[in-house]
Amino acid sequence: MLKLKRKNFFKTINFKIALVFALLLVITLEIVGAIFVRQLETKNLQQFKTQVQIPTYIDNSLAEQLSANNTTKANSQIKTILSDYNNSNIDEIRIVDSKGTIRGTNDVNDQSIVGQKTTDRNVKNAIYNNRSYTKNTYDTQNNGRYYISIVPLYSSNSTGNNSQLVGVLYVRANMKSVYNTINSIMSIFALASLVAMALGLGIAIIIARAITRPIEEMKRQTQRIARGDYAGQVRVYSDDELGQLAGAINNLSIRVEESQESTEAERRRLDSVLAHMSDGVIATDRRGNITIINETASDFVDVTAEKAIGNSILDMLKIRDDYSLRDLIENQDELTLDFSSNERDLILNAYFSLIQRESGFISGLVCVLHDVTEQQKIDNDRKQFVSNVSHELRTPLTSLRSYIEALSDGAWKDPEVAPGFLKVTQEETDRMIRMINELLSLSRMDSGTTRVDMELVNINEMFNYVLNRFDMILKKDDNPAKYYTIKREFTKRDLWVEIDTDKFTQVLDNIMNNAIKYSPDGGVVTCRLLETHNQVIISISDQGLGIPRADLTHVFDRFFRVDKARSRAQGGTGLGLAISKEVVQMLGGRIWVDSVEGKGSTFYISLPYEPYEEEDLWDDDSQA
Ligand code: ATP
Ligand code: MG
Repeated sequence: MLKLKRKNFFKTINFKIALVFALLLVITLEIVGAIFVRQLETKNLQQFKTQVQIPTYIDNSLAEQLSANNTTKANSQIKTILSDYNNSNIDEIRIVDSKGTIRGTNDVNDQSIVGQKTTDRNVKNAIYNNRSYTKNTYDTQNNGRYYISIVPLYSSNSTGNNSQLVGVLYVRANMKSVYNTINSIMSIFALASLVAMALGLGIAIIIARAITRPIEEMKRQTQRIARGDYAGQVRVYSDDELGQLAGAINNLSIRVEESQESTEAERRRLDSVLAHMSDGVIATDRRGNITIINETASDFVDVTAEKAIGNSILDMLKIRDDYSLRDLIENQDELTLDFSSNERDLILNAYFSLIQRESGFISGLVCVLHDVTEQQKIDNDRKQFVSNVSHELRTPLTSLRSYIEALSDGAWKDPEVAPGFLKVTQEETDRMIRMINELLSLSRMDSGTTRVDMELVNINEMFNYVLNRFDMILKKDDNPAKYYTIKREFTKRDLWVEIDTDKFTQVLDNIMNNAIKYSPDGGVVTCRLLETHNQVIISISDQGLGIPRADLTHVFDRFFRVDKARSRAQGGTGLGLAISKEVVQMLGGRIWVDSVEGKGSTFYISLPYEPYEEEDLWDDDSQA
């Protein structure tokens, strides 16, 4: 962690600025120092040279001694002159005559060299070339710097002009003092430089901080924006470029937030549109994997949205065996898919369209699933209905035709059979008329053109009236085919219900007729009337054939008959319950059946009911 931080630190602008500052400072100090030291050295050397220059009067007296004839005397004179001359900077003064013989030295311990030939090449050169010579040397033995000066000495003649070379003056001076001064000055300078550098570095770091801190803050703010947190604002420290940048970032974060909000709102709107659509919508990516699936679609395919996302649409729609993704992309026809299962019928129409970019690049597929189960059912019902009607009409017509043929073939003359035949034709015609009337009334109810005359009726009385008629039929018949008893179990309370009396009578008639018709051995028909707090319930139970379980849902379908042959033989058309259902629904009620095959059936009708208090009725009347 620390290592990482350090590594990152070297990459920071902070470090780079400090480094540049420090480098600039070092370079400047180096250049200034170099010039300064050079100047100092030159100046000091100049000064040193003047310090170690042998005064002219000594030169002259030495030249004089060199030109003297008495060598021994001259040598002792020279020795005196040299020992008299005192210059702390000078290590050695040596006098060499024009022949190269050493004539004197100020070195007390080295007097033995006097009288010997010089071995110094520079001295020899100076004599030979009649020229002065100076040199700075470094003596590795003594570890010191020396200044060597070789100056020619000339004898002075009567005119006072120097003319003839008599020897050279060799001076060797130790420059230690000079370099000591330079070194001490240099060390002061170096120290000052170090202090300056440390200070400079410190200042550089502070300045760099001042620059990088706002940058750092801006960086953090942009990272927050990237994370979707727009709450923060960058502090604007100054009015310079960085300050303007900070302002721009603040502005940007507001803009991004606004546009983010509007996209979010857009997305929510789309989501809610998708969620509330009655059609299923599935969107996929380029590879046909589901990216969006709305609730309706996931209900249709019976897979939760979470599970569906990422799966292939081919698998979700169970069409992998018949279609490839390419098929769907290339011809976006509508498909009819059967999603029916044991629990439900479900037929879907699937429409496909492409999600295409402007460049033509296909980035996905949208599939809209439309539930056409009802439509298909209606379609099938209609086809079934047409075929039923034709069939129902053909049967009586065929039998009519055969009777009429028989009559015209001569049976009309036979008084034994003719009346019977004519009776059958009349019955068949009646049945056809009845059926056509029933169909017409059904069709009127379908198209909504039936008039309903609602009136407030005492349902107890009305039901009783209908049942009385059935009792009468039984009484009138002296020798009925079967005996049945009608039992009434009515509530004591008078129930007033709003109904269309004619139509409702028709419903009760049909159910009563059925109860008697489909109870070959007669039995008890129990008729009940009771009320709940907002419903009136009528039930009619018989002890007849009953209805097989599987047919319970179908008895209200048009032309449906459990046993076609028997029902038709009894003159049934199979439309009675269908009409009853339509009528009850028109009155705002419900009709259903409960039955055990072989034991009997119970038909129920419920009608909406508002329990009126007696006073309310009177109030209504008085107001009317
Ligand atoms: P229609 O009433 O038009 O003369 P239908 O009685 O055959 O003819 P529906 O009243 O619609 O027609 O009855 C449909 C079928 O339901 C009948 O054919 C019969 O098979 C069955 N069904 C109706 N009521 C009973 C019942 N009480 N017991 C047994 N089966 C019944
Ligand atoms: Mg019937």
